[in-house]
Amino acid sequence: MASPPHPNLELRPLGNTGLKLSCVGFGASPLGSVFGPVSEHDAISSVREAFDLGINFFDTSPYYGGTLSEKMLGKGLKALGVPRNEYIVSTKCGRYVEGFDFSAERVTKSIDESLARLQLDYVDILQCHDIEFGSLDQIVNETIPALQKLREAGKIRFIGITGLPLSVFTYVLDRVPPGTVDVILSYCRYSVNDSTLVDLLPYLKSKGVGVISASPLAMGLLTENGPPEWHPASAELKSACQAAAAFCKAKGKNISKLAMQYSLANKDISSVLVGMNSVRQVKENVYAATELATFGKDQETLSEVEAILSPVKNQTWPSGIQES
Ligand code: NAD
Repeated sequence: MASPPHPNLELRPLGNTGLKLSCVGFGASPLGSVFGPVSEHDAISSVREAFDLGINFFDTSPYYGGTLSEKMLGKGLKALGVPRNEYIVSTKCGRYVEGFDFSAERVTKSIDESLARLQLDYVDILQCHDIEFGSLDQIVNETIPALQKLREAGKIRFIGITGLPLSVFTYVLDRVPPGTVDVILSYCRYSVNDSTLVDLLPYLKSKGVGVISASPLAMGLLTENGPPEWHPASAELKSACQAAAAFCKAKGKNISKLAMQYSLANKDISSVLVGMNSVRQVKENVYAATELATFGKDQETLSEVEAILSPVKNQTWPSGIQES
């Protein structure tokens, strides 16, 4: 029997979808061993802990760990043994370890492959993955229409787009009929070190588009252990974040909790999607949300960390065919 949802983890509406997402979302890229090896046991128990603590939103992609993340998440969700409508799943299409392919043919095949790996009949959200690496006109004219057919076929419920440069969202949303794209997933743009997503929120709200903000820990920059080898940030940004983490530690504070609470505090963001690979991380991140709801932000430490990060504030890195 499943435990009842955690009573204090807030649910937030996702644009016009009618979905209500837990404010902390479970990012499953670590289940693809993207941030270091993760056992099947740890993957399954992390998903179970997340669900038991009130997380109802799980995000993956065929790209993460070359399909491993989808397989692990599928096992974890199956092991929950709860009705399918008790959790919300998003996966992606167009980005694979073999490269990018946003053609109608590939994304149509991709969803069937994803559903098989996830052991599901449908996903709630299918997102075009990192569209700055494709032709945005192809996304508008070919990929999204293909996803609309998948929606009609009942394989997906809602359509999303993801990317790092914020300009890709306005480019697409300005060119598709209203209600076609339901969700955007932005990453590394609403963290203590980079909050540029804030400027786009009124526009997204006016379009009725739901906002998922991923990577509140800046893909590991805002953790005591630091980022993985492949992290694309400059040496300057990495060392500023390392200094901020050391400052927090010396003060008896945790940089990851501070960063989670910073992102969670903006309620125009439906879900803060954080990558997790252990029961401990799940507990910490859910606790960060419930503590924020009860006590508010640690404004003193936040201001101190913002001062340390001010020389690199909003510094990002190139992503995509236009920027690289
Ligand atoms: P993140 O900022 O969430 O950081 C994840 C890292 O932080 C992992 O190493 C994780 O183990 C660690 N971590 C998590 N909780 C911690 C805690 N309490 N203390 C210390 N360390 C902790 O970065 P992410 O995983 O890349 O992003 C979150 C999710 O968002 C991804 O898993 C993925 O689902 C999604 N995402 C999507 C896109 C995209 O669509 N383009 C891009 C990035 C992320």
